[in-house]
Amino acid sequence: MRVLVLLVCLALGPASVLGGSEPDFERLRKELIREIKEDVRETAESIGRDHFQDKVFQALASVPRHRFVPEKHRRRAYENRPLPIGYGQTISQPYIVALMTDLLDLEPEETVLEVGTGSGYQAAVLAELVRKVVTVEIIPELAKQAKQRFQLLGIENIRAAQKDGYYGFPEEAPFDAIMVTAAGDHIPPPLIKQLEPGGRMVLPVGGPFMVQQLTLVRKDLNGEIHTEQMLPVRFVPLTGGH
Ligand code: SAH
Repeated sequence: MRVLVLLVCLALGPASVLGGSEPDFERLRKELIREIKEDVRETAESIGRDHFQDKVFQALASVPRHRFVPEKHRRRAYENRPLPIGYGQTISQPYIVALMTDLLDLEPEETVLEVGTGSGYQAAVLAELVRKVVTVEIIPELAKQAKQRFQLLGIENIRAAQKDGYYGFPEEAPFDAIMVTAAGDHIPPPLIKQLEPGGRMVLPVGGPFMVQQLTLVRKDLNGEIHTEQMLPVRFVPLTGGH
């Protein structure tokens, strides 16, 4: 009997024994990038640009998104949509990751703060583009998992911590750029304070579970703040004690 089972398994091939072969993730990643480029053209008017910097796409091409989603969603990792990551949270839609990254207009020697580590995917994309990323997550289990992922993938220029990002990360401030991946109804004043003159911040602003506005904030060299609304978006709420 055992021999028969083994023979059947061999006939089906090792992949079917394990429940299907691994998809060609690299090919799927390339297709996803093509899709994002189409989305950029379609949304060009509201986002004020018809292409993103090449280096943003290169970063997306280098980060294995399937390693940042729960095992059961791996096959869907390269669909252009958000996916659940547990604890009621989601990994953002790849187009939104690309857009928010492009809006920050990053330079290689810069330091970026991300509020809302979640899976760690966005931080890993940022880490391809700048010298250092500091990322904070309020949910302890997610913070821990993301930290382990960075280690496993050998990403060394991310400092990840568990804390309430509304208050930023004063120990590492000021930042050249800040990205917030959860929505609050106002721009957190501590984050404005921790932004370097000449710095950029991108964040969704609006009530929880409503449509929010993706907002680009610039602090000019005189320290004055300029804001610009880019696109209606939907993010999970910025929680915490504020
Ligand atoms: N950037 C993430 C998307 C995460 S969703 C990714 O690439 O996967 C937003 C995350 O923000 C959630 O994990 C949520 O727990 C976290 N969050 C919400 N409020 C926060 C706060 N005040 N400080 C830090 N993280 C917060």
